[in-house]
Amino acid sequence: MNSNNKNMRAPSLTGLRMRIVALLWRVGEEAFAEIDAFAWVQRWEIRRTWHAHTYRDPRFDALAPCRVCSAKGRCPTGLPCRRCRGTGRVNLLETPSSRKPERPSGGRA
Ligand SMILES: [Zn+2]
Repeated sequence: MNSNNKNMRAPSLTGLRMRIVALLWRVGEEAFAEIDAFAWVQRWEIRRTWHAHTYRDPRFDALAPCRVCSAKGRCPTGLPCRRCRGTGRVNLLETPSSRKPERPSGGRA
C-alpha cells in the first residue's frame, strides 16, 4: 500500500511541476504579448524563455566593416570616409549608388 502511495505521488509531483511551468509560460506570454506583436510586425527575431524575451533586428546582419577606411570612419587625411559616411561600417543591403549621396545629382563622374 505504501509503495502504491509513493508511485501515485511521483506522477502528481511531476504534474504539479508541469502545471507551474505552463502557468509561468502563459503569464510570460501575456506579459510580452504587445511587445511581441510589435516585434513580429517589425520582422524582428524573438527568443523566448519563461521569464525573458529577447528581440533582434536581422538587418544588423547586413552591416559589415568598411574596407576603404578599415572601419575607422576617417580617411588618412582626417576627412570622413565617403564610402561609409564616417560610420566605419557599410550596409550590404544598400545599392552602391545609394551609398554615394555626396555625388552631385545629374553629374557624371
Ligand atoms: Zn569607411
